[in-house]
Amino acid sequence: MPTKPKIGIYWCASCGGCEETVVDLAEDILGVVEKVDIVFWPVAMDFKKHDVEALPDKSLAATLLNGAIRSSEQEEMAHMLRRKSQLLVAYGSCAHTGGIPGLSNQFSREHMLRYVYEETPTISNDQKIRPQLKFQEQGREVCLPELRHVVRALDQVVEVDYYIPGCPPTPRITQAALGAILEGKLPPKGSVLAPDIALCNECPRKDTKPTNVAFAEFKRPHQKLLDPALCFLAQGVICMGPSTRCGCEAQCTKGNMPCTGCFGGTGRVRDQGAKMLSSLCSNIEPRDEEGIDQVLAGIPDPVGTFYRYGLAKSLLRRKVDLPIS
Ligand code: SF4
Ligand code: SF4
Repeated sequence: MPTKPKIGIYWCASCGGCEETVVDLAEDILGVVEKVDIVFWPVAMDFKKHDVEALPDKSLAATLLNGAIRSSEQEEMAHMLRRKSQLLVAYGSCAHTGGIPGLSNQFSREHMLRYVYEETPTISNDQKIRPQLKFQEQGREVCLPELRHVVRALDQVVEVDYYIPGCPPTPRITQAALGAILEGKLPPKGSVLAPDIALCNECPRKDTKPTNVAFAEFKRPHQKLLDPALCFLAQGVICMGPSTRCGCEAQCTKGNMPCTGCFGGTGRVRDQGAKMLSSLCSNIEPRDEEGIDQVLAGIPDPVGTFYRYGLAKSLLRRKVDLPIS
């Protein structure tokens, strides 16, 4: 009986949502499981790191790795899974572009640790105790991974063969990618496994997208009664659709929420946030500084708005005085 291809699924700095998508394949996952041997999936099955370490290099046909790289342990696992896998796939926004965890690149490590362990209003830590990398008790030593200075996308640490975008990727796009991997019907190495066109093309509101708009104000979704059929940009609400890759079936805009950009930019976009900023800012109605400031006050969190998933891979990348890793 021919042996089945071996697959690994692993998470790094991740919320677990990407793993949920794999589970959301529901009965379709049985079709996948019949065709492969899952040899590493710590969130669902009791495999240990040494099980994978014992395998010969390149013995996994593919590993789907979700989550960004923030700690020394995640870095080590990324290198190990790269060695063991013929194909390493960055699965989901965090692995693809740094994702939500990448927003922490606006702050230093010390700033974050101080806030989390000393200043958060809901904690009480008068002695300002923080976790240590090594702790000894009763002759035993417990070690914790080191937190790196910045969050990195997977391909900023190891070579990546393919990317499956989304926060999380949809079950449909996941299944199509798994099918392509198993059948060997893959595009050129380095491709994002989703259509290379902007989301507006598959959005049901595209016919109402303004071709000539002058923004007199910006509103956030909770500040306005949103028209369920009109393009968000025509309502003065920022929608990242024009600079975002499609493939999600426009689930957010169909649900009356603007796109926040989780599929990343298309292949022609070097910096997803900058592309959106340049098109919006050239269409602000006031021409005087005070008027422009008033309009921009409607975007209180520009980094979180334009770089929600992609700061780690953007041209800005991180707070300017942080070390590179
Ligand atoms: S891409 Fe989204 S769903 Fe997946 S781990 Fe990151 S935050 Fe969670
Ligand atoms: S900007 Fe947003 S709402 Fe408008 S067509 Fe594009 S994706 Fe749809």
